[in-house]
Amino acid sequence: MLVKQILVVEDEEDILELVSFNLKKEGYQVKGVTSGEEALQEVRREVPSLIILDLMLPGVDGFDVCKALRNDFRTKAVPVIMLTARSEEADIVIGLELGADDYLTKPFSPRELIARVKAIFRRLEVDISDHEILQKVHDIEINVKRHEVLISGNQINLTSTEFRVLRLLAGKPGWVFTRDQIVGAVHDQEYAVTDRSVDVMIVGLRRKLGPSGQYIETVRGVGYRMKG
Ligand code: CA
Repeated sequence: MLVKQILVVEDEEDILELVSFNLKKEGYQVKGVTSGEEALQEVRREVPSLIILDLMLPGVDGFDVCKALRNDFRTKAVPVIMLTARSEEADIVIGLELGADDYLTKPFSPRELIARVKAIFRRLEVDISDHEILQKVHDIEINVKRHEVLISGNQINLTSTEFRVLRLLAGKPGWVFTRDQIVGAVHDQEYAVTDRSVDVMIVGLRRKLGPSGQYIETVRGVGYRMKG
């Protein structure tokens, strides 16, 4: 099993030490930093498996760090547990809205911290086994968990409907999907998908995929397939 790396961001040295000590005891690799600036530098150097983030930091605070993490595609999916003082209930709400996964109010016991960390890792493992995390077909890489598509390492921005169509086709290369099947697979509560809009969407999808768009083949009178 891969050793999980945890980044701890906390300006209070005694808490940083306590947290680091207890995580290491559980077998995690731990890196500790005492400011938001250092935290952002560190994640640019190496993306950790999880981040424990104090909200009240001098300079770039925990909220800003959280925002920056969520705005960067490399760190968007990294789970964050925020640390906050008991009296800061509004902070918890803002933190969760900014994309933190969980929170601990100070003071907390090491046992509580470890339980939260383990719960997040367990949840991630379920996510990964539920869906195949990486689909690769030709030079198109689909990261199901992150909802990302990469072509030769470059990220392609797709709408959620386009993403679902691509996943469907890429899931069975060589297999022809009728327009009805595609409509069924991408059916959206918000708006109706018709046969005609499938055609329009495929055109748009091909264009976004650039030269790799050629792998989506039209099967005249039937539908579409991903070239096998
Ligand atoms: Ca602090």
